[in-house]
Amino acid sequence: MRTENRYCQRMPPPRCHLQTGYWPQSETTFKPDEPTAVEGLISLDPGECFKKIFVLIMEAITELILQNNTKLNIAITGVSGAGKSTFVNAIRGINDGDEGAAPTGCNENSKDAIAYFHPNYPNVILWDLPGIGTTKFPADNYLNHVGLHKYDFFIIISATRFRENDIRLAQEIKKMKKKFYFVRSKIDSDLYNEEKSRKSNFNKEKTLTDIKENCIKGLQDAGFESPQVFLVSSFKLHEYDFPLLQETFETELPEHKRNALLMTTPITSLEIIAKKKKAFKSKIKYYAAASAAGAAVPVPGLSIAVDVSILIAAITQYVHGFGLDVPTMKRVAERTGVSYDDLLAVIVSPLAAAEVTSALVLRVMASLAGTAALMAAKEGSRFIPFIGIPIAMGLSYITTSRVPSHILNVLAEDSERVFRKAFGSV
Ligand code: GDP
Repeated sequence: MRTENRYCQRMPPPRCHLQTGYWPQSETTFKPDEPTAVEGLISLDPGECFKKIFVLIMEAITELILQNNTKLNIAITGVSGAGKSTFVNAIRGINDGDEGAAPTGCNENSKDAIAYFHPNYPNVILWDLPGIGTTKFPADNYLNHVGLHKYDFFIIISATRFRENDIRLAQEIKKMKKKFYFVRSKIDSDLYNEEKSRKSNFNKEKTLTDIKENCIKGLQDAGFESPQVFLVSSFKLHEYDFPLLQETFETELPEHKRNALLMTTPITSLEIIAKKKKAFKSKIKYYAAASAAGAAVPVPGLSIAVDVSILIAAITQYVHGFGLDVPTMKRVAERTGVSYDDLLAVIVSPLAAAEVTSALVLRVMASLAGTAALMAAKEGSRFIPFIGIPIAMGLSYITTSRVPSHILNVLAEDSERVFRKAFGSV
């Protein structure tokens, strides 16, 4: 739980006014989503307004059902010791040794695939597959045992050139017309060793190119025409080819799965923040439609209660998606060596690194210019016979479009500041 003191500590002194309803203005100009379409709702005649909002509500329900049912099963495979478990932890934003982390550095491998759920998005499951070709678990039985069909795509990891077992596995995956990606792991360690041995002759770019070409050549010799190899360090996900790997997933996955993956992607670049923001923004019209539905019921106070619960759900998603929840920020602090307090110090929004409660959300809503007036107008208009409810629905739609738009902008900016603080200038 945030205390006022701690909050104040990390706010620049003149702007520390949370108690008096202060809400930081986003650096981005505030523009509600699709202003003309949204604001136009209340100028329509009541029947048209009902119809439009009904369509939006139906879309919202479909979207929510689709979103909740989207499961993504990602298999991580490769010989034992290649760095699979460390990679599984890194892309879930979990540090080795944290609760729920895949155990790393173990010689004793499980013979079954182990599911690791994303801490904030349990529909995205990373499967640490048993090491192929270990004596305990021969390659011949491997393919049937792990049930290749159930995974959406495969990441084949190797800390050296890709070996016979990796290649066999890739060929089987290819036969099933599934996607697979070759990841050459522990790149930081290769660079370190190369620098130590070559000293003044060390050339980082050349070393990276050599490693990649060497892997590609091996795969071409094994019959893969134009294999793509991604150089990754699980200790430095924001460096080397991990951002490129993320982009490749995005272009190759179906849209709803792409979004599920994007939400779970750790913040490894400013582009990821921008992409998440865009994805979140596209959902605002659905929240607004659900809010309009709440406004249609003429029970005092119900509409605001609906708005607040919708906003809590949306804001919680933003906070998790942007890595601004306390556990994620603490893990980033641990991984980067930048203290948690220093990361907190660059945050402006009272909603980041805090428990998102209805009281906090109401306070933020009330402090946003015009929102309190809109909420009051909406609550009053619902009791005007016949035309009151459509007007209230339109006002509700506007309120629940504006508020998350603005909060989204501010949280995205916070996420950028935390990223810069944690990983240097970038
Ligand atoms: P697995 O058996 O394939 O699951 O391999 P692990 O994830 O347990 O990793 C084996 C060892 O390699 C552990 O000591 C890890 O700390 C280390 N390791 C994994 N990934 C990296 C990496 O990106 N860089 C470095 N330097 N070491 C790594």
